[in-house]
Amino acid sequence: MRNQIAAANWKMSLTLQQGEKLLSDIIAKPLKLSEQHKVIFAVPFPYLFMAQQKVGDKQQILIAAQNCYSKKSGAYTGEVSVEMLQSLDISFVVLGHSERREYFNETNQLIAEKINICLEYNITPIFCCGEPLTIREAGTQNIFVAQQLNECLFHLSQEQVQRIVIAYEPIWAIGTGKTATSEQAQEMHAYLRSVLAKKYTENIANNISILYGGSVKAGNAKELFSQPDVDGGLVGGASLNADEFAIIINSLK
Ligand code: PEP
Repeated sequence: MRNQIAAANWKMSLTLQQGEKLLSDIIAKPLKLSEQHKVIFAVPFPYLFMAQQKVGDKQQILIAAQNCYSKKSGAYTGEVSVEMLQSLDISFVVLGHSERREYFNETNQLIAEKINICLEYNITPIFCCGEPLTIREAGTQNIFVAQQLNECLFHLSQEQVQRIVIAYEPIWAIGTGKTATSEQAQEMHAYLRSVLAKKYTENIANNISILYGGSVKAGNAKELFSQPDVDGGLVGGASLNADEFAIIINSLK
């Protein structure tokens, strides 16, 4: 079975002390984690070290960065390299989030460069894709998202693409409280898997975890995650509440 993943995206929320308490509270909950389950916390850069210390050597609870730079090192004031993340033992990085695309002008080309450097340093990208409302209303979401995959991922070899996690996040559902229906999510996830199978192989496509993101909550997680091609979720708002996120974790298949 593919890895089933509950990934928390804290975005630019919480103080260090609040983050530390949230992690302690979630870890203390009765989490039903079986072998194929992973819980990932994408925390702000200054909290990576604290978060890594907090989860310790728990095999299924891992820490992610929310971004990285595309260059190895050098005079890039304010940026964080993958080598720095690797030196902290960080194993995942969220890339291509719609907020980074929108507010920081990240293009598919830049995202592809970031994916390459992560893979070079053995860090798994959680690659986000998803269409805006206008595209969904025009009914061209499949073409739009397939192009994001094409431009960000399809230069990768068969070996490399298997080291990616994909998060489908329709932009109209992020932080809006408006979730895609489980049918809409399943339809897109199955489509993405078919696009991956066509470019690579069916076997490879069947081994890539595809998460859904966009207003996942305790109340809708089970229904979304029960869809055959939905392998968990990337969760923003609801991941900031320990009770709610624990229910989301325990909703993984
Ligand atoms: C996200 O941050 O990627 C996200 C999906 O946010 P929310 O769950 O708040 O919609």
